[in-house]
Amino acid sequence: MEFQKNTTIDQKVDSLLAMMTLEEKVGQMNQYNGFWDVTGPSQREDMAWKYEHLRKGWVGSMLSVRGAKEVRAVQKIAVEETRLGIPLIIGFDVIHGYKTLSPIPLAEAASWDLEAIKKSASVAAAEASASGINWTFGPMVDISRDARWGRVMEGAGEDPFLGCKVAVARVKGFQGEDLSAVNTIAACAKHFAAYGFVEAGKEYNTADIGPSTLHNVVLPPFKAAVNAGVRTLMNSFNELNGIPLTGHSSLQRDILKGEWGFNGFVVSDWASIAEMIPWGHAKDKREAAKIAATAGSDMDMEGYIYVEELAQLVRDGVVEEALIDDAVRRILYLKFELGLFDDPYKYCNEAREKETIGCEEHRQAVLDMAKKSIVLLKNEGHLLPLKKDGQKIALIGPLVADKNSPLGSWRIASEDHTAVSILEGMQEYAGNSLIYKKGVDLTVGETAFTQETTINKTDRSGFDEAIEAARQVDVVVMVLGEHGFQTGEGRSRTDLQLPGLQQVLLEAVSKVNPNIVLVLNNGRPLAITWADKHIPAIVEAWQLGTESGRAIAQVLYGDYNPSGKLPMTFPRNVGQVPIYYNRKNTGRPFPNIDDPQNVFWTHYSDVDNTPLYPFGYGLSYTQFSHKNLRLDKDTAEVGDSIEVSVDVTNTGDREGKEVVQLYIRDLVGSVTRPIKELKGFELVELKVGETKTIRFTLDHSTLGFYNNDGRYIVEPGDFKVFVGGDSNASLTADFSLH
Ligand code: BGC
Repeated sequence: MEFQKNTTIDQKVDSLLAMMTLEEKVGQMNQYNGFWDVTGPSQREDMAWKYEHLRKGWVGSMLSVRGAKEVRAVQKIAVEETRLGIPLIIGFDVIHGYKTLSPIPLAEAASWDLEAIKKSASVAAAEASASGINWTFGPMVDISRDARWGRVMEGAGEDPFLGCKVAVARVKGFQGEDLSAVNTIAACAKHFAAYGFVEAGKEYNTADIGPSTLHNVVLPPFKAAVNAGVRTLMNSFNELNGIPLTGHSSLQRDILKGEWGFNGFVVSDWASIAEMIPWGHAKDKREAAKIAATAGSDMDMEGYIYVEELAQLVRDGVVEEALIDDAVRRILYLKFELGLFDDPYKYCNEAREKETIGCEEHRQAVLDMAKKSIVLLKNEGHLLPLKKDGQKIALIGPLVADKNSPLGSWRIASEDHTAVSILEGMQEYAGNSLIYKKGVDLTVGETAFTQETTINKTDRSGFDEAIEAARQVDVVVMVLGEHGFQTGEGRSRTDLQLPGLQQVLLEAVSKVNPNIVLVLNNGRPLAITWADKHIPAIVEAWQLGTESGRAIAQVLYGDYNPSGKLPMTFPRNVGQVPIYYNRKNTGRPFPNIDDPQNVFWTHYSDVDNTPLYPFGYGLSYTQFSHKNLRLDKDTAEVGDSIEVSVDVTNTGDREGKEVVQLYIRDLVGSVTRPIKELKGFELVELKVGETKTIRFTLDHSTLGFYNNDGRYIVEPGDFKVFVGGDSNASLTADFSLH
């Protein structure tokens, strides 16, 4: 394709569009799955017809094509064998790294370190782009308050403020400064919207939420991603208040493309256009195509609906061709932005692929991210850090030597069993002096979408030798949690305790040796209430990716002082879910709104009214004090800013980092307000005895909320400010807006 010099992308898109037949236009809106193992050994034969479509120019994008060589092959067909030679855009689920894996996204969010998160996404982009990929289906920005939902591992947790910041960091990390650069890729904020609110945390379920939650909790991270320049969005499998999202015109057309001015494109989720038929929203494929195209779903992922139905719908006058043109313009625009028309093979560079993937710089970056993601939940009696010599240690648990689970879910390009295990990481310190006993098996199906029928509920044959090992040592490090495929898509669970026989093993070991450091590897908040009461040290180490074991060992041995804070509330039991810090007050707060034990308040009678660990919580090997909270004024006009400052001191005996958190409460609202809302945070590094003054600004963008018409307003009235090291922040100050 030749274009005159100095023409703008819009002009190029227009001139190309003018040359396209209706079928070719619809073709741009069609995306097919490439070579993915799930299609089975006969995949290439099965896909022969797809290649026919590709040759006809009926395919605009492919997903999950692996490796520079394979991408080059499909791109060559698009460029050399189709009438107009329009290059494909190649999508892939680069969720937490491509081959060198970072921690799962929920773990990364626990770092509250936006620079590190951005860097992690840029490493993922550098590796994926060397393999021919130019578009990732990430970041997932779904807020969720329900740990039962398996996909909480893919997001940034429960809070919209943190969620917005993390979304922006990830979009910027993937897309970089210049989308046409060879090491950046287009991002995709997903799943638009309310997927994290599926009823009872049950995968693919209905979501039934009101306007306040939609506008104040669900939509903000998408809007933040759009403002940060995200080039695409993906809609979601669920329905929202009766409308499947793929056919949700008011969200996609009115809010996203209208109000927010989003000029990128929307891809459906996998076959989600077709799913509107079983949802009972479209009677057949033709109607599903009409609804989705009209609602602003620009690309059909592996649904075969647009390619079969859309051209005829236009010919029949049911769908306006202008809608098709709008979708195609958006898709072509991104292809130009990525530079695919200048060089369609620019991302397929086998030499770069070889030298980039798994390089030392990337391993260091994911190691750094992994350390920053670890959250110290308990450290009584200072069992941690472990001593580097002279201490006899036994490692016990099914995840000690596991090299697969730490990779977490969503790592389709990386080789299995390639994580540094905790055993390997600890051996770098203690060599062969460590005793290791597995104790019990934690086997579940190795893929998503399977029931946990194989989980071990009876075999205790490894217990005795584990207990014997525990007897002989000073400290037991137990590594328990979830198998890598117990979270992720299709992995909702009703039980949040340690799966299988792990809890039984933990109790048995603690009877013979109470000096236990419990290291958790998991992809969601767990209800570890017994452990919190009986185990002196607990480390939340999530699923930390390729360098997992090394990062954990550095924290356990004290070479890295943990600073992570929980991005999601940990419940005492599953019945408390959904449990989240920014809840509403009730009509019965007396005598004290801030006393969660008040039995007249909303509560259950069989469990303490607090969470096990609150949002924003995490310890360090040192201690911090927060003092002298002050505001620059105690009254202000609506529209003014308020400066907040606080002095934070490292009062312990080693250098460390603290996430200073600022929350507000708007005491009276025309729509009731949450009892606390995060509105600022800063990660501060402090030497022993050092004090720093941390300053925050509260302004129009943080003092308001969306009313039930979806309109952002700031109301006059009284506000409370809270500052501290977690969402229980107890330092307070007051101000009013007039
Ligand atoms: C998931 C998406 C993912 C897509 C492509 C779907 O099942 O919901 O998040 O991007 O598959 O693999």
